[in-house]
Amino acid sequence: PFYAEYIRERIRTVPDWPQPGIMFRDITPLLQDKKTFRVLVDVFVHRYMDQKLDYVAGVDARGFILGAVVAYELNLGFIPVRKKGKLPFDTVAEEYELEYGSATVEIHTDACTAGDRILLIDDLVATGGTMLAAAKLLDRIGAKVVETAAIVDLPELGGSKLIREQGIPLFTVCDFE
Ligand code: IMP
Repeated sequence: PFYAEYIRERIRTVPDWPQPGIMFRDITPLLQDKKTFRVLVDVFVHRYMDQKLDYVAGVDARGFILGAVVAYELNLGFIPVRKKGKLPFDTVAEEYELEYGSATVEIHTDACTAGDRILLIDDLVATGGTMLAAAKLLDRIGAKVVETAAIVDLPELGGSKLIREQGIPLFTVCDFE
């Protein structure tokens, strides 16, 4: 699409961060530029405006930035999927594997009502572990994840393939090899 390269050009690659050998894709320049930020939000709003969604959920922490703005623009409420230990009320938790060790995400049990149609947003899909764990949480509280979405896909890490193989639709704006 016409917008993908425009957005992709504003993503910065930081080599060897947070560890040697990692090429970190940094979306802060994309958010900082008022024009690319608006185009990014508008891509999401245009894609989902007629999907009869009930909520937008965003993944801690970079998924909150885009997720909350898209929710507002679609006249929807926002649901935070948070890292372990941050949510004060009753939660369900999902643990998943990282390259070294594991991580846990949580959601409030009353975050939505059974059958609600949800768009789930994060900034980036690498191995897919985070997005799949977040989708599983929403599924466990009875929600229907209509689509998962991220700005960036790292297809070589296999996450986007894994998500789609599980029958979960995934939309991403651009790829990095
Ligand atoms: P996954 O669980 O392996 O798919 O990793 C995706 C999660 O890690 C997302 O929540 C991202 O915010 C974060 N992440 C992994 N690699 C990068 C990167 O290069 N740039 C920004 N975020 C990243």
